[in-house]
Amino acid sequence: MDKIILVRYEEIFLKGLNKHIFENKLIKNIRQKLAGLGNTKVTKSQSRIYIESPDADFDIKEAIFILTKIFGIASVSPVIRIKSDYEMIKKTSLSMVGELIERKSHKTFKVETKRGNKSFPMNSPQICADLGGYILSNFPQLKVDVHNPDFILYVEIRENTYLYSEIIPSVKGLPTGTGGLATLLLSGGIDSPVAGWMVAKRGVELEAVYFHSYPYTSDRAKDKVIKLAEYLAEYCMNITLHVVPFTEIQTAINEKCPHEYITIIMRRYMMMIAEKIAEKSGSLALVTGEAIGQVASQTMESMLVTENAVSLPVYRPLIGMDKNEVIDIAKRIGTFETSILPYEDCCTVFVAKHPVIKPSLQKTLEYEKVLNTENLINNALIKTEVIRL
Ligand code: ATP
Ligand code: MG
Repeated sequence: MDKIILVRYEEIFLKGLNKHIFENKLIKNIRQKLAGLGNTKVTKSQSRIYIESPDADFDIKEAIFILTKIFGIASVSPVIRIKSDYEMIKKTSLSMVGELIERKSHKTFKVETKRGNKSFPMNSPQICADLGGYILSNFPQLKVDVHNPDFILYVEIRENTYLYSEIIPSVKGLPTGTGGLATLLLSGGIDSPVAGWMVAKRGVELEAVYFHSYPYTSDRAKDKVIKLAEYLAEYCMNITLHVVPFTEIQTAINEKCPHEYITIIMRRYMMMIAEKIAEKSGSLALVTGEAIGQVASQTMESMLVTENAVSLPVYRPLIGMDKNEVIDIAKRIGTFETSILPYEDCCTVFVAKHPVIKPSLQKTLEYEKVLNTENLINNALIKTEVIRL
């Protein structure tokens, strides 16, 4: 009898001839993420992945916690693997059920059987009926409820037999690294970590860029962004965070450009610098947490003006979402509590009292002419700090 973990995936099934590329990447990611827990053996069989460890003290609970944050995994189950022998199945089921009802006060159950191994002498309905009856006769306090049972005993008969009662949902999506690299403009707010997470969910690796306006924004604001990048890295394997000093640029814009245009021009500089960083690392898109109409710099007119500053595509996965919908995701993925810590953001430091809501591209380009864009951007890039998480 071995205690192992069963990993299921869903969308990878649709990948036809490329399926093995996605499976192999997923296995590689799982190995890397579990490396800290000791020796593990990760194997693929019949479109599933099995994880076991020779270590007596292998922490299955912690492993499952990590697995539920790996993109590409649909669900996981702690399972008991035994020989496909009916007496053995009965005996093990009994001890499993005994343990389960001792831990939780379950009163009703049902047995669900899948028989992949057609040479097994009983069919699925026979196994369900016989095993259900056997469990009932040993635990008279239990009742069968096929519609809404307190627990289900799953019996999967393949070459070996797998018994389990828990199916724990994971994050789904596609394995990190199967979709290329994108550059996330990561602020300390609620939106951008969620935007990054949503793009990463589709198998995209992330690097992040944070614009830091020291001393107007404190080191605590920077630490907050590092923390957010660390949370994202729990899902996306590794993240490189570029911390770009932004004060010189903001000061120049503030001094030389019409006040109502400072925010929109500042946002164009963010895009331009992020694009430079993206090009260097082979990133294929920029990602922001913008949503139509959320603030003045996120009207359709404003986004047209900011997008015009770059030629890489800008992905805005939150574009049609309400704030509350974003907050729900932020809570689910674990970034919310950090995002709401009350540290200042660079956008709130040099803030226009009456920012233009429908900026004109022509005017913006005209106002920008007084700035030495190339110098400002190069200076910022030279002083950019690179943090690997
Ligand atoms: P967030 O909650 O992500 O901060 P927001 O609602 O505060 O977003 P803005 O401050 O207008 O909106 O920023 C819009 C987007 O621009 C952010 O989602 C983020 O992608 C990017 N951004 C804003 N400030 C920064 C910054 N200091 N560093 C990096 N990216 C930034
Ligand atoms: Mg913000």
